Amino acid sequence: MLRGTGVSPGVAAGPVRVMTGAVPEPPAGRRHAGDADAERDRALAALETVGADLEERGARAGGEARDVLAAQAMMARDPGLAGVVTDRIAEGLPAPRAVFEAFNVFHAALSRAGEYMAARAADLDDIRDRAVAFLLGMPAPGVPDSDEPFVLVARDLAPADTALLDPSKVLAFVTRDGGPTSHTAILARAMGVPAVVACGDCLELPDGTMVLVDGTSGEVRPDPTEQETAAAHAAAEARAAALDVGTGPGATADGHRVPLLANIGGPKDIEAALSCGAEGVGLFRTEFLFLGRTTAPSEEEQEAAYRAVLEAFPHVVVRTLDAGADKPLAFLPPPDDEPNPALGERGLRLMHSHPGVLTGQLRALARAAAGLDTELRVMAPMVADVAETRSFVAACRAAGLSSAGVMIEIPAAALRAADLAAEADFFSLGTNDLAQYAFAADRQISGLARFQDPWQPALLDLVAPAARAATAAGKDCGVCGEAAGDPALACVLTGLGVTSLSMSARSLPRVRAALAAHTLDQCRRAAEAALRATDADGARTGARAELPGLEPLGL
Ligand code: PEP
Ligand code: MG
Repeated sequence: MLRGTGVSPGVAAGPVRVMTGAVPEPPAGRRHAGDADAERDRALAALETVGADLEERGARAGGEARDVLAAQAMMARDPGLAGVVTDRIAEGLPAPRAVFEAFNVFHAALSRAGEYMAARAADLDDIRDRAVAFLLGMPAPGVPDSDEPFVLVARDLAPADTALLDPSKVLAFVTRDGGPTSHTAILARAMGVPAVVACGDCLELPDGTMVLVDGTSGEVRPDPTEQETAAAHAAAEARAAALDVGTGPGATADGHRVPLLANIGGPKDIEAALSCGAEGVGLFRTEFLFLGRTTAPSEEEQEAAYRAVLEAFPHVVVRTLDAGADKPLAFLPPPDDEPNPALGERGLRLMHSHPGVLTGQLRALARAAAGLDTELRVMAPMVADVAETRSFVAACRAAGLSSAGVMIEIPAAALRAADLAAEADFFSLGTNDLAQYAFAADRQISGLARFQDPWQPALLDLVAPAARAATAAGKDCGVCGEAAGDPALACVLTGLGVTSLSMSARSLPRVRAALAAHTLDQCRRAAEAALRATDADGARTGARAELPGLEPLGL
């Protein structure tokens, strides 16, 4: 039995497909056996195979993926590339090394040809790795391709890896790295797929092994019996049924309203949000729309995506592009060689180097909302101080947007929340990054997951003053970090004065049930108990003692 941290509930059983890591560089200094023609044929056949495979995957995926993959297939079949490969083989290099060097020649040329072409260079590396892997008899890198549904096992998953995933094929995610607030976890929850992260030995599972994954307990059982699989499914269904308490508006037992909102990544998430009873959208992560893109989306394309979401809900909070660190967007490159991308130009900061992207997005949003009754609120990620708040609010006003807020996800912003509240129309607390920066602990590093525990009293110490400052200024202060989806913590946050909770759609029923089972006064007492604790476990236990309605609901 393997154990990790369950981060997206549900159980699934299926065969493992391991996502392979980096393809090794074929060693320099070797020579082929002497038959240059045979070696050349081998190399060109590998390039053709890769091209055909990319094209076929694109045809199956359809939509935008088809165009992206068709363009990559053309690169693999480029006659100029074949020419360099042939020359290198004529000089004596073996096929894998010749292919490797030929791609690098083109990579260097593209990198020198400006920002747009430089973004294409990353695509070339992927095609190179596929061709080299084929020649070395290794599985293709990246998300595995499979006709049957599978359990995806990986070291970690970048958001870009998952952009091309077919949700009907992936039964569950299991990763060696990542914590509860890593984007693997967030994406798995959005897809409604069970997920286990920080699962130490998962990469040792041979491809094809049947596993049973429990996204609540974090257990991954190889070769389960039929009885074990059936029992796990039954338990998961019983848990889900116990929480089926309707889809009404969020409120405490004594009627204190706490709107329950969904975190979404685009129009594809609308259906799940509505079926789980989301009252609106509290966080639209717009960068998720454009992860696989090498060029900036047009304003028209953005407008269409935003409009689809705005038409589906009465209230929507849209976050402007939050690119950088673990969510790089090729068309928004950070400065070269940042040693600590999470502390570098990301989120709103990146917009200083790309101001046109922000104003274009704000214009697209204003146009998308025109003529609709939907209440559109727009907020910026990674805001640190008053100056950034002022300039963002001014940019929103210039675009004709009436509600401009800021995310509180940097401790400096939480500490000076009163100053920020004087400028912004609302706050939304990003507890994932707030924990990352408060504890100086990268949220992607599984060994540091303890610091990502949103029950840490130090994190709650930053939430409390932000909520107080917003209340004093008569402004809303929601939470849209993963903390909002924890039923007990949702009660604590309500007790701290937070005015709305936004989470992965599938967490909504649990949180709705927890709130409905307690009065505002109980929530306040739970918050006081959590703040009095000296560590996360103490905060959890102390708060739960004030929330007697959780246990009967199995929460
Ligand atoms: C957060 O940091 O809490 C947040 C909601 O933003 P993201 O997870 O997208 O960084
Ligand atoms: Mg964040």
